[in-house]
Amino acid sequence: MFDHLMTPVQRSLRDEARAFVKDTPRDLILDMDADKVKFPREWLREAGKRNLLGVRHAAEWGGRGSDWVTSCAISEEIGSLSYELACVFGVGADLVCDAIVLHGTEAQKERYVKPLLAGEIFAAECLTEPRGGSDFFGATSTAEDKGDHFLLNGQKRFIVGAEGADYFLVYARTNPDESVSPRARITCFIVDRGPGVEVKYQYGLMGCRGGGTGRLVFKDVKVPKENVVGTVNGAYAVFTTMMIPERLGTAAMTVGPARSALDIATFYTSRRKAFGETINQFQGVSFQVAEGTMLLDACRALVYSTARAVDDGVDPHRVRRMISETKKFVTESCQKVVHNSMQVAGGIGYTNVLPLERIYRDIRLASIWTGTNEVMATIIAHEWYREAAAARASRPGRDYVADAAEADASEELHFG
Ligand SMILES: Cc1cc2nc3c(=O)[nH]c(=O)nc-3n(C[C@H](O)[C@H](O)[C@H](O)COP(=O)(O)OP(=O)(O)OC[C@H]3O[C@@H](n4cnc5c(N)ncnc54)[C@H](O)[C@@H]3O)c2cc1C
Repeated sequence: MFDHLMTPVQRSLRDEARAFVKDTPRDLILDMDADKVKFPREWLREAGKRNLLGVRHAAEWGGRGSDWVTSCAISEEIGSLSYELACVFGVGADLVCDAIVLHGTEAQKERYVKPLLAGEIFAAECLTEPRGGSDFFGATSTAEDKGDHFLLNGQKRFIVGAEGADYFLVYARTNPDESVSPRARITCFIVDRGPGVEVKYQYGLMGCRGGGTGRLVFKDVKVPKENVVGTVNGAYAVFTTMMIPERLGTAAMTVGPARSALDIATFYTSRRKAFGETINQFQGVSFQVAEGTMLLDACRALVYSTARAVDDGVDPHRVRRMISETKKFVTESCQKVVHNSMQVAGGIGYTNVLPLERIYRDIRLASIWTGTNEVMATIIAHEWYREAAAARASRPGRDYVADAAEADASEELHFG
């Protein structure tokens, strides 16, 4: 994040996260990448002790009542340490707790948010099913109303924290009536790990290892009625608000590893020699680093202005477009930054003598999860056409279509 745009309070919190990053032992990152650590409980516990988890939430629930700009700055710092640590850092405290804080009851906040932000318990978010993640509202997991409880059956896959979480935020179909809109058939639940909840498979991942990512099966799980988040068949409202931490959070944390990669590339190319000169003297090298610097600043600018838009309560449609643009632009640009960083390091960049290959593997997830970038493009297009049509209808500004010499030849402007 840009220092000059941040307040002293925002900078001070960011610096606390920076100190935490500095204090984290290197072995944790290496052991997670080697799948020796299944879930970084102790590290999350320490994050909770330092009061760094979910800083946007009210102090009453264990947060610090801070804003999106600060939260994004912290995510960038944690991401610079390890992309998977940033995943587990955000999933419970930012995603799951957001849903409960915004839509849950006081009792749910007391029982599930407070201890999570203190680093005592952990949570996972369960949207994706084996049959598909993009078509979220086509979910087939079901929760049947049994009077005093719901009976949950179904599967969720690619769940970060499947191994390690104490409770799960699960979306399931509660209205079997096919004539009702899919958006009005789903309910969001808090599900404790317990009888009927089983991790059936742990994935062998390309990167982002050590966060307990697995497939969960729910078989005849009794979920008490008081564990409904929001209203029955009302998960659409929860899902909509969660897309902010999901996608803006992803964008912010993705700047981190790209920054680390560029730092490594800058260090290396300032020392490595070829043809009697340090390789940063060759434009073929320094221009790739320059492109990385430029892209990173563009990413920060987008993250910062979108975070400000959310903080300032800008129109939800505009925010939805900005968040989707930010997620898509930042994740693709950061992947390019990491690609360039490896390229300028030559062969050694492709080995585990430098961390670039791990960062390269980790950051590939960025454009796939929390809604693929193809889904982001669909949202951007939808919101843009909508906004542009409304602007044209109300004609607040100049009509650019008329600025042509033959603008009056309206018969030639065929629209089919
Ligand atoms: C390591 C990892 C961790 C994850 N963590 C979590 C988690 O904690 N919780 C969770 O719920 N999920 C998680 N996910 C799931 C992730 O969000 C989904 O994988 C993602 O949303 C895509 O869903 P899918 O894999 O089912 O692909 P699909 O939906 O099957 O999509 C396959 C391809 O088709 C494209 N496509 C689909 N529909 C359209 C469309 N309408 N227009 C254009 N293109 C389209 C997609 O863009 C994609 O390229 C994780 C995934 C991974 C790999």
